[in-house]
Amino acid sequence: MPLTASAMKLNELDKMTAPMGNTDKMPVLFLGHGSPMNAIEENEFVTGFRTVGKTITKPNAILCISAHWETRGTMVTAMEKPPTIHDFGGFPKALFDVQYPAPGSPDLAKQTKALIKKTEVKLDDKWGLDHGAWSVIKHLYPDADVPVIQMSLDYNQTPQYHYDLAKELSVLRKKGVLIIGSGNMVHNLGMVAWDQLNNTNYGFDWALEAREKMKKYILNGDHQQLINFRSQGKPFDLAIPTPEHYLPLLYILALKDEHETVTLFNDKAMAGSLTMTSVKIS
Ligand code: ZN
Repeated sequence: MPLTASAMKLNELDKMTAPMGNTDKMPVLFLGHGSPMNAIEENEFVTGFRTVGKTITKPNAILCISAHWETRGTMVTAMEKPPTIHDFGGFPKALFDVQYPAPGSPDLAKQTKALIKKTEVKLDDKWGLDHGAWSVIKHLYPDADVPVIQMSLDYNQTPQYHYDLAKELSVLRKKGVLIIGSGNMVHNLGMVAWDQLNNTNYGFDWALEAREKMKKYILNGDHQQLINFRSQGKPFDLAIPTPEHYLPLLYILALKDEHETVTLFNDKAMAGSLTMTSVKIS
């Protein structure tokens, strides 16, 4: 791009995000959310979320890409007060009683829409916070005092598309926005070992193999292999029967700058066919 055009583009961007001010670059997180019960249980994963939360400067706002919001096209929640959505069944009443009353941020929603050139992002006033978002963000900011918006996953798009789209969010990191992808790298509910449901250190061979390979690619910065997850063989096919829990990882990896550090935490396989492995990039 010629210098003048690129300078103009930067100018535009500055104007758009000016109300948020510039900050140090925020880290990005991929959080393995696992069972919705993690919202109300005390366990090592919850401790992991809290611990990582304490390493991060309190953000101005959070933008969350959750496995549990798939739409045609890309949407961002734009309401002032996003409702807490209990998008699951068969859990105790205590879980349905949880409210996470974090405010929304119509401003951030509009800025995100304006930032993204790859597609026309739509502003949503019907969704809210699904459990992919609140069950984990709750542990980072228990007072619900950080505004949260969600961005949906377009179910018609390829992994490469999601990765490229995510890169357009990069500037938000310098506006105090914490970008969180919430899913699970290995997530096959059809193959859960129900008799090992509470065993937080139990993975089938294929799950462990997929986990090791994913970690290797993440730590080596070999993102293309992760984008091409459908060419990685049987363990990946079993680990990712449908892509929605995996794609939030690609959003987070796409936001990694060259010299940033990747830290893994909650790196456990559980119930045979799930991993809780989470990532911080800073
Ligand atoms: Zn989930």
